[in-house]
Amino acid sequence: VSVAADLARVVGAEHVLAPPPAWALHDATEWAGLRGSAEALVRPGSTEEVAGVVAWCAERGVPVTPRGGGTGLAGGCVPDGGVVLALDRLDRVVEVEPESWRMVVGAGVTTARVRRVAAENGLHFPPDPGAAESSQIGGNVATNAGGPHTLGFGATRRWVVGVEAVLGTGEVLDARRLHRDVAPYDLLGLLCGSEGTLAVITEVHLRLLPAYSPEPPVLAFYDDAEAGCAAAAAVLAEGQQPAVLDFLDAGALASAGRSGGFALLAEGAELEGAVASDDVWRWREGIAHAVAAQRGGKLSEDVAVPLARLAELVDGTVEIGARHGLEACSWGHAGDGISHGAFMLDASDARQVQRAHAAAEELFDLALALGGTLSGEHGLGRLKAHRAEEALGAPTVAAMRAVKAALDPLGILNPGVKLPRGPLRDRP
Ligand SMILES: Cc1cc2nc3c(=O)[nH]c(=O)nc-3n(C[C@H](O)[C@H](O)[C@H](O)COP(=O)(O)OP(=O)(O)OC[C@H]3O[C@@H](n4cnc5c(N)ncnc54)[C@H](O)[C@@H]3O)c2cc1C
Repeated sequence: VSVAADLARVVGAEHVLAPPPAWALHDATEWAGLRGSAEALVRPGSTEEVAGVVAWCAERGVPVTPRGGGTGLAGGCVPDGGVVLALDRLDRVVEVEPESWRMVVGAGVTTARVRRVAAENGLHFPPDPGAAESSQIGGNVATNAGGPHTLGFGATRRWVVGVEAVLGTGEVLDARRLHRDVAPYDLLGLLCGSEGTLAVITEVHLRLLPAYSPEPPVLAFYDDAEAGCAAAAAVLAEGQQPAVLDFLDAGALASAGRSGGFALLAEGAELEGAVASDDVWRWREGIAHAVAAQRGGKLSEDVAVPLARLAELVDGTVEIGARHGLEACSWGHAGDGISHGAFMLDASDARQVQRAHAAAEELFDLALALGGTLSGEHGLGRLKAHRAEEALGAPTVAAMRAVKAALDPLGILNPGVKLPRGPLRDRP
């Protein structure tokens, strides 16, 4: 079987790269040493071409790894053989309906462009995941991406009213919806957060809001994690409805404090008067990079726990890091109980990478012990799939496998992602 020659007939020779370029073999977990392999990178230009590629792979039992912007933090688009199916050419804004607050876009349109086009039409797309200039709306749907504003506005799922998607058989699923339509099963709900394991999303129908002017942010400082988390809990208990309720622990503040004109934060001095709202958000967006810059890399997670247990998670992250000889810190979305616990590392040192993975496993243990989840934001991907059964329970995993078998009967879509790898059925 010549993958490249056959798929060139489907998408055109110029859109098949065999062997695939290095960038197609990793996502944002590269810092943590995760790198895959594949026979070819294929870049279809339409839903029909996506369907053609998937049907070809289904006939031969060849694994398909859907790839959006490659910003994922769980290794979900890191291929394990087969074909990388990149969606970047599906980059058309198909339709904008300002009067009915709707937009239809190809799966390859970047998140930032969705937000820009919405704004140009007097509308607002609320999800604000951190890597918006590179992540694609299809990837956002596949991971049900959120961000700081998820507390107030909900994650991507809330804003998706329809998708066009290619099932693991190569058939096209047209799950376009009205704002209210209870006729079908909630297939959209299944596809949101499915991490490329159930279907390849090719087009997304979005619901939007009229343009929105945020209130200026409030910054508050507390002596320790316990006091800070108690304050966050008090905000909600009082019935306040903030759009965002984020936190940084001492280590994250020390890393990020000196960036973006916020030198005073690092010195612990009090801020007087108003800080420009845009500056705060720019600084907030840079935290992950500022933390990674400390050692050149980081392994950061997205476990979530009930808010009442968040302080234990934050303190526990630093303790776990110390046990493995790694500096660690946390920041995240207190209102949703999500903590980006990060272990800082020099990615060129294999021993540090190994220690960081061991530390992450302990962080998962802690999150589960605190009544939490392995992933509040990025998905299980390839990095955490091995713990799915322990975290979710055997009946839930069996139900997930049954859903997968219905939509991807040959198991060719992202095997080993989200669910532990089973045998590829009918594979020659
Ligand atoms: C600096 C930084 C900040 C981040 N901040 C956030 C944040 O605040 N909130 C958050 O939720 N995430 C965040 N992320 C993670 C990441 O940006 C999101 O998970 C994003 O939604 C991934 O989109 P992508 O297009 O890059 O997908 P990829 O990384 O390409 O893929 C992610 C998963 O989706 C699947 N996939 C991609 N496209 C499709 C498609 N069209 N059809 C079917 N499956 C598909 C892939 O197979 C894979 O399993 C951050 C990442 C970085 C690097």
